[in-house]
Amino acid sequence: MNDSRVTKLTKDLIDIRSESAEDGEEEVSKYISAYLKEIGIKSKTISFGKHRSNVVAEIGEGEGLMLNGHTDTVPIGDPSKWKCGTSARMANGRIYGRGASDMKGGIAAILAALGTARLREPKRRLLLAFVGDEERNLEGSKCLLSRHKSLFNGVRWGVIAEPTDLLICIAQKGIVEFSITVAGKAAHSSQPWLGRNAITDTAKAIDALSMLQSQFKVHDHVLGTGTINIGRVSGGVAANVVPEKCNLEADRRLVPGENVQTAINEIKVALERVRISYKMHVTLSQMPYSLPRNSFIARYLKSLTGRAFAGVYGYTEARLYKDMANIDCAVFGPGTTKGIHGPNESVRVSDLEKGTMYYSRIINQWLAG
Ligand SMILES: [Zn+2]
Repeated sequence: MNDSRVTKLTKDLIDIRSESAEDGEEEVSKYISAYLKEIGIKSKTISFGKHRSNVVAEIGEGEGLMLNGHTDTVPIGDPSKWKCGTSARMANGRIYGRGASDMKGGIAAILAALGTARLREPKRRLLLAFVGDEERNLEGSKCLLSRHKSLFNGVRWGVIAEPTDLLICIAQKGIVEFSITVAGKAAHSSQPWLGRNAITDTAKAIDALSMLQSQFKVHDHVLGTGTINIGRVSGGVAANVVPEKCNLEADRRLVPGENVQTAINEIKVALERVRISYKMHVTLSQMPYSLPRNSFIARYLKSLTGRAFAGVYGYTEARLYKDMANIDCAVFGPGTTKGIHGPNESVRVSDLEKGTMYYSRIINQWLAG
């Protein structure tokens, strides 16, 4: 059986490794620009560091819609955990390889759709942005949004092709990632009353933080309520020493309707109640994001695909494009988020084909005006 266009593109893109930190996106960028040239679309490669680059292309003029995908991946990890090697491989109706779902499959579906799109005499403007460094510091998109602002003139809407099982994702969780350092007083374990045990104090903090879960009242119609997770605890030196220090790292995920400052205050109030000595440090914070169901882009995707609305649990660049360029992005792509950063990542071929069909409608309808 001959590979369909989207299958071939997905496999090719997987086999050009582009781990954010290791390889950069340079080679993937070259492949994408060569493909775009072949189908008659002129593109520009915009570099943002050594071996790091974005590919952008513009079709038409006027009101703009952006199609966006990131070309970098997380590392392959331990190759021995990949059942049949790490190069792209087709089996059981799926393509396996790093980036299959997140998100070389999504990019391949956009590229395949462009290959058959009606690009002549466009009535509106389509902006293609294939960006790098999404898996690390978002440098690719930040470079475009700060140094190439004019690209986004007139662009009000965007579709980010992250894997969503082809559901129209209009909400995304926010995050407060934090650490606390609990201070105690060292003593010999034979006379523990002379010290103060930082580990048992941290246990009180863990109880207090875990109890917050039942108090989260904001309920988002697609994402449910917020969550808190204690992710790491470290402290102590030996069984016979009362520990003087213990560290705890945790993250609080926010749903639309919650906000970073309130979440931080709730955490502080919970910790104050247990009367321990601690220092808190917020290591990462990001507001949640959501689009109303009746926003143009949500309705546009709904009318062209008939797919259901949903939410994204992890991070996507939708928030960044909203904050820096006021673009309302929905996240919509083939592939699943289950197992994407682990070994044996895969994408269903039938999803890639459906994705290509939906992107064709999105592109053709947009360009037809
Ligand atoms: Zn991704």
